[in-house]
Amino acid sequence: LKESLMGVVSRIRSSVLLDSREVDLVIRELQRALLKADVDVGLVLSVSERIKKRFFEEEQPPGFSKKEVLVKILYEELVNLLGGEETPELKVSSTPFKVMFVGLEGSGKTTTVAKVANYYKRKGYRVGVVAADTYRPGAYEQLRSLAEKVGVPFYGDPQERDAVSLALRGVKVLSDKGIQMILIDTAGRHKDEEALMEEVKTLYREVKPDAVVLVVDATQGSAVARQARAFQEAMPFGYVIVAKMDGSAKGGGALSAVASSKARVIFIGTGEKIEDLEEFNPKKFVARLLGMPDLEALLQRFSEFARLEKERARAIASGKITLLDLKEQLEGLRKMGPLSKIAEMMGLQVKVSEEDLNIDKWINIMNSMTMEELLNPEIIDSSRMRRIARGSGVSPRDVKQLLEAYRNMKKVMRQLSRSRMRGLPRGF
Ligand code: GDP
Ligand code: MG
Repeated sequence: LKESLMGVVSRIRSSVLLDSREVDLVIRELQRALLKADVDVGLVLSVSERIKKRFFEEEQPPGFSKKEVLVKILYEELVNLLGGEETPELKVSSTPFKVMFVGLEGSGKTTTVAKVANYYKRKGYRVGVVAADTYRPGAYEQLRSLAEKVGVPFYGDPQERDAVSLALRGVKVLSDKGIQMILIDTAGRHKDEEALMEEVKTLYREVKPDAVVLVVDATQGSAVARQARAFQEAMPFGYVIVAKMDGSAKGGGALSAVASSKARVIFIGTGEKIEDLEEFNPKKFVARLLGMPDLEALLQRFSEFARLEKERARAIASGKITLLDLKEQLEGLRKMGPLSKIAEMMGLQVKVSEEDLNIDKWINIMNSMTMEELLNPEIIDSSRMRRIARGSGVSPRDVKQLLEAYRNMKKVMRQLSRSRMRGLPRGF
C-alpha cells in the first residue's frame, strides 16, 4: 500500500493544472492502490467520490496551492478511512483491569498478549498473564516462556481442560498478588467456529473482562471484516490489534475493515519480537503511507491558517478592529477610485489628500506582515517593525506611522459606536 500511495502523491506532484481530467487520474491511481490493499470496494468508491467533491467545492485558501489542497484532502480522507484522527487508548481504569484477547488461531494472539504485557510493564503497571487457551497443546508453554522473557507473572495449568474455571482461578491468583492488569489469552482453533464462539461467549460472561481485544492478522486483508463481525456477535469488543503489519501489502485492507466497525485499532504488530508493537496513530500512519516527509509541515500550515481564521471570526464577533480590517478597507477603497470623490460621497467634512494617506504604501507595508501581526497588531515590537520595513522597502518610521494611524482609527471607531449607543444618528 505504501508504495502505491506514494505513486498517488507523485502523480499529484507531476500534475500541471489539476483540472478535472488530472484529478481523475489521481483518483484512479488512488483507487488502484486501495483495491490492491484489499480495501472494500464500496469504501474505495465513497472515499474517492468525497475527495473529488471536496477538492472542487472547497475554497483554496490564500497562500496554498491546489496541489497542497488536494494532498491535505487526501490525507484527511485516508485518516477517516482508518477510523479518525484521535489515537485510541486502552486505559487501565480499575484494578484489577481484566483484558480478554480473542481471535482466530494463528492471528497472533499469544504473541500479542506478551507484547501488550511488555508495553504496560514498561509504563509502570504491574501486569500478569493468564494462559486460558486450553485447546492447543503448545499454548501453555508458549505463553509461559514469553511471560518469562517479558518478566511478568504467569498463570496456567497444562492439566486443566476447562478454559472458564482456569481463567477465573488465574484472575483470582494474580489479583491476590496485587496485579493491576490481567491479560487473558484464549483459544482460537476449534473444529467449528460455533464451538469457538460459544467458549468465548461463556468466558466473557463468567470472567467479566473490563476490555476485550480482538487480534486480527493483517495478511488476511479485507477478510478481517467477516471475522470482526462474527466476534462482534459473540461479545462486544471495543479494541482491535492488527498483528503482522510488517511487510503486509494487505495491511490497509485489514485496517480499514476494522476501522469501519465500531471497535478501535489500538496497536499494530510489526514483527515477531516482544518489542514489535506500535501504538496505532492514524495520522502518523497515513503520513508514513503517503511517504511525504514534508507532510507534517504542510498540515501545520493548514491548521495555523484555520486557527487564524477562527481568531479573525472571534475578533469580528467581539467588535475588535484589526489591521486586517484596515487593510481590507484600504484595498476596497483602492478599487473605488479617487479618495476625494469617495469622501464627498460619504459626506465627510475632512479634507483628504491622497498623498497624505499613502494608501498604496500602507497596503504594501501590511502585505509584509504575517497574519498573526495583522490580527494582533499589539505584538509588533521594534524588531518586528524593522523586519516589516525591510520586507516592504520602507523605513521603520513608516511602519510606526501606520500603527499610529491604526490606533487612531480604533479610537474613532470606538467613539462612533459609543455615540451610536447613546442614540445618535448613524454616521454622526
Ligand atoms: P495465536 O495462535 O493467535 O496465538 O498466534 P501466535 O501468537 O501463536 O502467532 C502465530 C504466528 O504469528 C507466530 O509465528 C508469531 O511469531 C507470528 N506473529 C505474531 N505477531 C506477529 C507480527 O506482528 N509480525 C510477524 N511477522 N509475525 C507475527
Ligand atoms: Mg495462541
